[in-house]
Amino acid sequence: MLPRLLLLGVLAASFAGSQVPTRRTVSLVVSNGIVITVDGNRRVIDRGSVAIDGRDIVAVDTVAAIAARFRGRETIDAAGAVVMPGLVNTHTHAPMVLFRGLADDLALMDWLQKYIFPAEAKTVSPAFVRAGTRLAALEMIESGTTTYADMYYFEEEIARVTKAAGLRGVLGETIIQFPVADARTPAESLALTEKFAKAFAGDELITPAVAPHAMYTNDAATLKACRALADRLDIPVIIHLSETKDEMKTADEQYRATPTAFLESIGFWGPRTLAAHAVHVTPADIDILARRHVGVAHNPESNMKLASGIAPVEAMRRAGLAVGLGTDGAASNNDLDMFEAMRQAAFLHKLVASDPRAIPAPVALEMATIAGARAMGMDTAIGSLEAGKRADLIVVSMASARQTPMYDPVSHIVYVTRGDDVRTTIVNGKVLMRDRRVLTLDRRQVLAEASLFADKVRAAVK
Ligand SMILES: [Zn+2]
Repeated sequence: MLPRLLLLGVLAASFAGSQVPTRRTVSLVVSNGIVITVDGNRRVIDRGSVAIDGRDIVAVDTVAAIAARFRGRETIDAAGAVVMPGLVNTHTHAPMVLFRGLADDLALMDWLQKYIFPAEAKTVSPAFVRAGTRLAALEMIESGTTTYADMYYFEEEIARVTKAAGLRGVLGETIIQFPVADARTPAESLALTEKFAKAFAGDELITPAVAPHAMYTNDAATLKACRALADRLDIPVIIHLSETKDEMKTADEQYRATPTAFLESIGFWGPRTLAAHAVHVTPADIDILARRHVGVAHNPESNMKLASGIAPVEAMRRAGLAVGLGTDGAASNNDLDMFEAMRQAAFLHKLVASDPRAIPAPVALEMATIAGARAMGMDTAIGSLEAGKRADLIVVSMASARQTPMYDPVSHIVYVTRGDDVRTTIVNGKVLMRDRRVLTLDRRQVLAEASLFADKVRAAVK
């Protein structure tokens, strides 16, 4: 009997060695979800899993294929839920959540001059900006945004709060010709930008940017200095572009050009430049933007609420421009919910084109993920679920009455899902919210702090 047992032992050992492959242990497996990858083939896996190790996605495949190759030290069961890339908000002013609902339904200049500017002049401080960014970060994590582009004051404070909350950000200190909360001159803002850029150089989550407010709020010398600084530090540029008819009029009166053509004439356009709005761009402007590979942030809700106009999104997309979606600041939206931005973008462009085929659901989803990432020059790292990319993903419940039944998950993400349906948010491989519990911010404290600042805002506009 002994030799036979030995033989069996040898056989078992060789079976274990050659037939059952060793499973690689990874930090996290998000398993058993409906995986919407937004990859090059727009693959949707009915029962799929995502294997994550450290900050990176290592594999996206069927449940069985991932289970055969990987063992997660931690597992998140996404049964019945959608697993998809985290949303990319290409344009906001995070701390402005503290002005949410302060004044609505006013003409743009009344709104700015009677409410927003006085409130900002009396309240914006490093503490205000930190409190506002914490509130914005809480809202973004709770509604599935994992990366955002921002332009405000005391941006280095915004960066610290963003990093502590675990979000990814492309963040730019506002550069503007008149004195503001944190700088008396554009030269001071440029110096702050450089200091901020050096402090966060090579950071995993924070990409500092140069952020001239707009062409009509800066002179040519300042705009050229912004481009020069971005080139010297090799960092992105963020600017508002052709948002209103007034801006077009100003550019025409001052320079006999559109804002886009004027910026082209001074050599402003360059790589990794993100233009917010592009509402009133002409076909010639679109050619310039396409030639210069400028990314565009489309903000349908803000553009509608402020009656700014309708950006020619379809024409820009046809020209090959990367058009992402943004919420703009919460004072003109009034929230940071990117699901709503997708839905409003789809509805708005159907209406304006008199064609229900305009911006179909897969395109709206693309704009909120991979196209937004491309607009920000980050599409090799984020914007889709693919091996080798950063693990920025969300798990979205599909269990509500509103979402039942479900024939097409992509349709549901765009046409019925809301930020509140997000269960779990992961950025750079780290779980920021698990089953609606935010792990990187103290929710109660963030909300309490926000109401303290709201009292100050109320007093400022009395
Ligand atoms: Zn803006």
